[in-house]
Amino acid sequence: MVSRVIPVDPFDLVIFGGTGDLARRKILPGLYRRFLAGQMPDEARIIGAARSEMDDDAYRKFVSDAIEEFIPKSKHDKAQIKEFLARLSYVATDAQAEGGWETLKGLMRDGVVRAFYFSVGPSLFGALAEKLNEYGIADADSRIVVEKPFGRDLASARALNKTLAEHFDETQIYRIDHYLGKETVQNLMAVRFANSLFEPLWNAQHVDHVQITVAETVGVGGRGGYYDKSGAMRDMVQNHMMQLLCLIAMEPPYKFEPDAVRDEKLKVIRALSPVPHEDIVRGQYRGRPAAQGVKAEPSYLDDVEDPHSRTESYIALKVGIANWRWQGVPFYLRTGKKLRARTSEIAIIFKEPPHSIFGEEDEWRENVLAIRLQPDEGMTLSVMIKEPGPGGMRLTEVPLDMTFADALGEDGTDIPDAYERLIMDVIRGNQTLFMRGDEVEAAWAWTDPIIEGWEERGDRPRGYDPGSSGPEDALMLLHRDGRRWRELRG
Ligand code: NAP
Repeated sequence: MVSRVIPVDPFDLVIFGGTGDLARRKILPGLYRRFLAGQMPDEARIIGAARSEMDDDAYRKFVSDAIEEFIPKSKHDKAQIKEFLARLSYVATDAQAEGGWETLKGLMRDGVVRAFYFSVGPSLFGALAEKLNEYGIADADSRIVVEKPFGRDLASARALNKTLAEHFDETQIYRIDHYLGKETVQNLMAVRFANSLFEPLWNAQHVDHVQITVAETVGVGGRGGYYDKSGAMRDMVQNHMMQLLCLIAMEPPYKFEPDAVRDEKLKVIRALSPVPHEDIVRGQYRGRPAAQGVKAEPSYLDDVEDPHSRTESYIALKVGIANWRWQGVPFYLRTGKKLRARTSEIAIIFKEPPHSIFGEEDEWRENVLAIRLQPDEGMTLSVMIKEPGPGGMRLTEVPLDMTFADALGEDGTDIPDAYERLIMDVIRGNQTLFMRGDEVEAAWAWTDPIIEGWEERGDRPRGYDPGSSGPEDALMLLHRDGRRWRELRG
C-alpha cells in the first residue's frame, strides 16, 4: 500500500533551541524525512536559532551530522541531503537579550506560513513570545509550537497559558504531545470511529478494564537533575498517559475537527474521579552490585543529586471515570524506568462470555484488544478458537495481528515519526492532535491533589529491582480486584 503524500504550503519554520538535543534527534531528522517523502515544497525554509555563535554553513554541518546519526543509512542520499541543507540557515539570538532579532525579522517572508518551534526550556517560552511580537516577527497567522513540560502544577500551567495568551490567540498555539502524533494513537480513533464493530462494545457493559502501560528499560541517566524535580506522575501520567486515556474513553466527536475532538477529551478529564491513596503505588528503582560479567547498576538515588529524594521513577494507579459509559470500569495506568522491557501499550480487556457452553472455564481467556505504541506499532485482537485437529473441542487463544509496518508493506522505517507528522500538522494549521489550554489545566487540576496527597503524608516510594516489572505492591493493585497486569514484553 503506497501512502499518499500531499505537499504542505510554503513555510518559514524557526526552531528556537535549534542546536539542542530534541532538535538534533527528532525535529531536524524528521524534517529531512518529510523532505525525502516529497512533502516539503521548494519554498520551505528552516531557520535554527540559539545563543551559540555560528554561521549558516556551521549549522548545516550540525544538521548533516544529525541526519548521519539518526537517519538509517539507506536514506543517506548525498544529493538529497545537499538540497535539504540548502533550505537551512541560522541566527544567533538569546531569548532573554537583544541581538539577532532584526536579522531574524529580515529572514521572514511574506505570503508563507510562519511557524516558531519553542524547543527550549519552558522558562523561556514567555520571553520568546514577547520578542516575536515586540520585533514584529510573528504575524496574525503565525503558529508557535510549545514543548513539554507545560507547567508543573495547575498554577504554573495557568500562568504560562496567560503569558502566551498575551501575545498569541489560542488558535495559534500548538502544545505538543508527541504521543498524539504516533500512527497507532491516531489509528485508535480510526478503529473506534470508522468501524461499527467496536463502538457498541466500548462501554462498561462489555469492557472489564483497561490497562495503559509505558515501560522503559533505561534509568534517568544524565537527565537526573530534571527528572528528580518531576517524577513519573508529572513526566508521563499528567500528559502522555492522560491523552491516551482520553482517546480511549471519549465520546465520538461530531466531526474530526480540532475543537470537536478536544471538547470530548476535556469532558473525560473533567469526569476523572479523585484517586484515593490506596489506589496509587509509587516506586524507585534500586541499584545492583556488579556480578560475574555483569556491570553494577546505579540506583535512582545514585542517579540524582538528592540522596533522600522521594521522587518516583515508577507509578501505578487505578483510575475511575465518573460517567455513564465507564461507570465501574477501572483504568489501570503504570509507567516506570528500569523495567523488564521497553514497551508502550493500551489494552482493552473485554468481559468473559456470560456462560461457557464448553465447560472448561480455565481454558478461556478474555478477548483483548491490544494497541502497541512501541516497539512495532500495531494492534492485536485476541480471540478464542477451537484448537486445530481432532482432539475434541479444546479452545485456544489466537491473535489477529495487524503490525502497521507489515500492513503498509513497508519496512517500518517509513512510518513517519510522531514529530514529523505533528510539524506538518502545524504547517497545515490543524490543531486536532495538540492540547488545548483548558485541557492542560484540567489535567493538572486532577493531578495536583494526587501529588499533594503523597507529599503531605510524606510517603516514600517502594523500592524495585532493575529489570523487574515494578514494586510488588503494584501487582497487588490488580490482584486485590481479581485481575493481573499484562506481561511486560519488549
Ligand atoms: P537542550 O538540549 O538543553 O537544548 C536547549 C536549546 O535551547 C539549545 O539549542 C540552547 O542553545 C537553546 N537555548 C538555551 N538557552 C537559550 C536562550 N536564553 N536563548 C535562546 N536559546 C537558548 O534541551 P532539549 O533536550 O533539546 O529540550 C528542549 C525542550 O524540549 C525542553 O522544553 C524539553 O523539556 C523539551 N523536550 C525534550 C525532549 C528530548 O528528548 N530532548 C523530549 C520532550 C520534550 P544555546 O545554549 O546555544 O543557546
